[in-house]
Amino acid sequence: MGKINIEKQDSVKMYKIRKTLDELTEKSGHGTELISVYIPKGKQLHEIISTLREEQGTADNIKSDFTRGHVVDSLGKVVQRLKLYKKTPERGLVVFCGALPPEGGGPLGSEVVTIYEIDPPKDLKQYLYRCDDHFHVDILKDMLKDDNLIGFIAIDAKDCGWGLLHGDKIEVLAQTGSGVAGKHRQGGQSAKRFQKLREMELTYFYNRVAETSREYFIDIYPVKGLVISGPGPTKEDFINGNYLEYRLQNMIISTIDSSYAGSEGIREAFAKSADILSNFRMVEEKKLVEDLFRHINSHSGLGVYGLRDIIEFLQNNVVDTLIITDNTNLHRVEGKCKRCQNIQEEIIERRDVIPKKTQFSSNPCPSCKAMEVEVSERDIVDYLALIAAKTGSKIEVISGAAEYGSMLASLGKVGAILRYNPGHAKK
Ligand SMILES: [Zn+2]
Repeated sequence: MGKINIEKQDSVKMYKIRKTLDELTEKSGHGTELISVYIPKGKQLHEIISTLREEQGTADNIKSDFTRGHVVDSLGKVVQRLKLYKKTPERGLVVFCGALPPEGGGPLGSEVVTIYEIDPPKDLKQYLYRCDDHFHVDILKDMLKDDNLIGFIAIDAKDCGWGLLHGDKIEVLAQTGSGVAGKHRQGGQSAKRFQKLREMELTYFYNRVAETSREYFIDIYPVKGLVISGPGPTKEDFINGNYLEYRLQNMIISTIDSSYAGSEGIREAFAKSADILSNFRMVEEKKLVEDLFRHINSHSGLGVYGLRDIIEFLQNNVVDTLIITDNTNLHRVEGKCKRCQNIQEEIIERRDVIPKKTQFSSNPCPSCKAMEVEVSERDIVDYLALIAAKTGSKIEVISGAAEYGSMLASLGKVGAILRYNPGHAKK
């Protein structure tokens, strides 16, 4: 049986890319002036740079002074930035650049040329240059989708079900009845004839299952692995008979004994396949959240929640793994006095960020009364990752919409497993 090798993805990195793309999706230009450049893996940067310079030349034809200025400035900024790279990054590079209104909006003419660089999560194969009234983010969005599909077949002599595991969910695709007679013959039939007929019917059923499996798992949803489950020996007969197309036959990663076939069997097999699929995100999330709850419920002192406390534990180097959902929508706003270095901070929701920044910057420093408070903000995950990087703590961002994310939501969307119980160490 084959072994699947699925690359583990960095959940913090994926979260950050997703957030940036969400932000970019909302932006629009006054004219066709927002630039998207996709530089594929292995493509020479100097080729890209000369293409962009040519574009700068043709920009002279743009009628509106306003748009022309923005396009020329943005292209210049991209070229400048690309020159800082010695060579194309390993997986390629995506750059977005455009003149965007300042935060909180502003009148025409107050735009600032802003650049975004994104290290793609996988090898980028496509080259794209676009100057448009919006950023072209779809290629990157597609790359964020989990493309590791696993097929499930739950079979016995009566039923068969097909299921698909992708990213964080299992989906039942279809189920069918076999039409094969039960094992026990009716009166009036010879035992031999009954057996013969039954075998023929089974062979016909197996071929039908194999055909549907090929359609689902090769043609429609190309899978990377296949799990076959069911009660009794039918699944083994099906596998050993080599009914499946050879590509699928080679993809069987496991067989699972279960109580059911059909759609119920698919769900049961998934529940039993945690070990095999331990690289899959949903299973990882399940383990993380279950670990956290186990520690909290056992009062071991190792399971904690509450953002304030967790930040303190993190700063004190006590956190082993921090778990946070991708939908907290929280930001940390900081006001730092340039004179006395006093720091004011607050963690608040997205919509309150701009008023808070205004409040910090338009009031004197509470410590030295200077009107020199400089404000900045960070996405909460970004901020936590920054502290965690210093202390070697792990951060896992889990899907807030999925089952285990909503369990974590009951604790305020963030929890942590500690390295040791700080209650024992203190005092
Ligand atoms: Zn001050």
